[in-house]
Amino acid sequence: MATTQRFQTILLFGAPGAGKGTQGKILGQIPGFFHLSCGEVFRTLDTSSKLGKTFMEYSSRGELVPDDVTVAMWHQNMNAQTILSLYKPQVDLLVLDGIPRNPAQAVMMKKYVKVLKIVHLVCRDKEKMIERLRKRALKENRADDAKEEVIRKRWSVYEKETFPVLDCYDKAIISEVDAIGSPARVLQNILEHVVPVQEAHFRKPDDPKR
Ligand code: ADP
Repeated sequence: MATTQRFQTILLFGAPGAGKGTQGKILGQIPGFFHLSCGEVFRTLDTSSKLGKTFMEYSSRGELVPDDVTVAMWHQNMNAQTILSLYKPQVDLLVLDGIPRNPAQAVMMKKYVKVLKIVHLVCRDKEKMIERLRKRALKENRADDAKEEVIRKRWSVYEKETFPVLDCYDKAIISEVDAIGSPARVLQNILEHVVPVQEAHFRKPDDPKR
């Protein structure tokens, strides 16, 4: 399928441990939303492949994988999802988490995605987020969050490299949502911001109710 149109997209944005993955997965279960986590795509790579090795090398240090390979892999994955009709650009709102991870990626992705809304999961309690990451590392066997120093490195990368991504977009499309609270409460708050976007962009002209 020719993707002449850009993907209509919502970015889930926030620090490591803010709950982007948890919320993205839930949103992705709702018809009309398609969730893709860049970190998940990296983790499904064969660790003996060249890209799999590159991912392990950077992620085990808490650093970002280089931009060109990251964006190329993301784009290839999007094309595969589209060809398989798992993602239908004409009807689904794309929910991205973990990408773009720095301003350079935001620029590289501009030709592919039209960002309609950024949901910024905000948590001002850094120690609480770090505690979440530690617990998740135990549960999910994630090498990058098993070591305190790697968690701290991931946080400093977020603050220095990822946070400035917000400056790449119009402030009017950024909605802040409190990341603290039960997953259901956080979801409720996220839906308040994204449902109107989905309804506005995928309204069928012949269906007055939608
Ligand atoms: P979390 O959601 O816990 O912050 P992710 O699962 O998104 O972490 O990412 C894990 C690791 O994968 C990152 O530390 C980084 O090495 C790599 N990674 C994921 N997404 C990107 C990206 N967009 N650019 C570069 N590296 C990435």
